[in-house]
Amino acid sequence: MQFEEVLHVGAPNIGGREEFHRLIDEMFDRRWLTNHGMLVQEFESRLADYLGVKHCITLCNGTTGLELAIRALDLSGEVIVPSFTFIATAHALKWQEITPVFCDIDRCSYTLDPDVVERRITAETTGILGVHLYGRPCEIDRLQSVADRYDLKLLFDAAHAFGCSHGGRMIGNFGRCEVFSFHATKVFNTFEGGAITTNDDQLAQRIRLMLNFGFAEYDKVVYLGTNGKMSEVCAAMGLVNLNELERFIAVNRMNYEQYRVGLESINGLELMPYQTSERCNWQYIVVEVRDAYSKSRDELIDVLHSTGILARRYFWPGCHRMEPYCSLQPDAGQFLPVTDHVAERLLVLPNGTATSSSAINRIIGVLRVAGG
Ligand SMILES: *Cc1c(COP(=O)(O)O)cnc(C)c1O
Repeated sequence: MQFEEVLHVGAPNIGGREEFHRLIDEMFDRRWLTNHGMLVQEFESRLADYLGVKHCITLCNGTTGLELAIRALDLSGEVIVPSFTFIATAHALKWQEITPVFCDIDRCSYTLDPDVVERRITAETTGILGVHLYGRPCEIDRLQSVADRYDLKLLFDAAHAFGCSHGGRMIGNFGRCEVFSFHATKVFNTFEGGAITTNDDQLAQRIRLMLNFGFAEYDKVVYLGTNGKMSEVCAAMGLVNLNELERFIAVNRMNYEQYRVGLESINGLELMPYQTSERCNWQYIVVEVRDAYSKSRDELIDVLHSTGILARRYFWPGCHRMEPYCSLQPDAGQFLPVTDHVAERLLVLPNGTATSSSAINRIIGVLRVAGG
């Protein structure tokens, strides 16, 4: 089959190149490439302002951020986490010998079901790690009340939720801390990168020590640490992209609206809604393939791929069906009926500034023909 252009999910948003080149030239003149340089400091302060949070600690990537946050909070034993997420959420726990206890999600929100969370608590449980999947916040208040009642630490994987709010407050302010990813595929990127945000002074200080080998000052190590630092080049990309974040989000929203209108008339395809009363990054075009559609999700993915539309099965299979979890916890699936159900039916379509209006028309056309 002929097609004009390959379309990707997560093609990067890229801000002003001239400004980026200028920042990099100045960085070369200073000969300061990493180790909490000027650009990282400016980036952290602008992020903290944007999010309205006391501490923003930038990092080499989001996964390291999860690992640092989990360690800095002294989590151990078991931590409750969704299986319907990117594998890094589970790996960050297991990497530190903590057992991820996979918990089912709500059928509509695709985030942790607080009632099920409560049933999965044992004497070994030390924390709850929620994921604001597709940028739609977890049921934060109900999770916080479960955490408070059982004296558990609550934190969030906010990799999808940069630029989103809950109750008018930016994501980044909830739980003990929240972890963002600024990977190239996210709405806002620094090539690779991430950040931990918190309003807790002591926790922030601990994380800052840990991400720089535990150095408190020259020649003085006071803590077990690793290398989680963000470099100056990444911070430059972050500064440039932050200038254009509102434009990226506006394009996403316009694209979403075009998908919404186009999909309305296709029986059996359901577009995931966003709550317009909150701030939202509109990054994920999530479609549920219902029984009323003539093809299964996987058959539809094959059709899309054969026409150069590289739609993704985010997230399939659930973490509990991948190694090492499927070997360690072979029965986990019996607790995860909703996870298994939606993991078989969702797909994510291209969005972002690389996705043109004519590309979306082409995608909608393929979806219509494939279903007819
Ligand atoms: C992207 C992502 C991560 C990992 O972030 P990296 O910056 O790529 O390490 C973690 N959790 C979720 C839900 C993600 O989508």
